[in-house]
Amino acid sequence: MIQHNDYIDLLKNNVLWAVEKLKTDPSYFAELSLPQKPNFLFIGCSDSRIPLDMITGSEPGELFVHRNIANQVNLTDINLLSIIEYAVEILNIEHIIVLGHYKCGGVKAAVEGLNEEDIVENWVSQISDLYHYHKKELEAIGDKTKMYDRLSEMNVIVQLKNVLRTPIIQRAFRNKKKLWFHGWIFDINSGLINDLPLPLDEWKELDLLPEDY
Ligand SMILES: [Zn+2]
Repeated sequence: MIQHNDYIDLLKNNVLWAVEKLKTDPSYFAELSLPQKPNFLFIGCSDSRIPLDMITGSEPGELFVHRNIANQVNLTDINLLSIIEYAVEILNIEHIIVLGHYKCGGVKAAVEGLNEEDIVENWVSQISDLYHYHKKELEAIGDKTKMYDRLSEMNVIVQLKNVLRTPIIQRAFRNKKKLWFHGWIFDINSGLINDLPLPLDEWKELDLLPEDY
């Protein structure tokens, strides 16, 4: 459990950070308060071990971020849909990245459950379906950790496919907007990101991507 002092430390650290930033660049916050122009939309897992800015060497203002358990793209999630719409239509972001990670508790919960009747299992039911659909291939891997790693990769691809299925993205294609999609996995064991190969031909066949993508 977090101690009272840990909470105070967060606020102290904040003051130190602001003072330090001003020391090195007196106009830092004047510039930060200008309208944002991020280049990337990240849809990632909420896991606390993935400090997005740090692992990508990004600065404030560069990443537009949505996070939830196991980086789910649910087509009825008004929160995420609003973010995609704002990113594509207002901020004109061209790169959309779904970022999963190995050793994802949400992916594991989809297969093994957490407690009885918990909400998380409900939330990650798409991954449960994915697991059952590919059960043979996944069980053949043998090693449980590797099996979950593979399921995490499959989950990233499926969620990226869900991004393509949103009316926002399809409208953007009709309007000839330039958009790039990426499926990434953060390997907690090495600190490195795997840029996953995407089934582009399959997505074109399903009319989710334009032919000239
Ligand atoms: Zn996770």
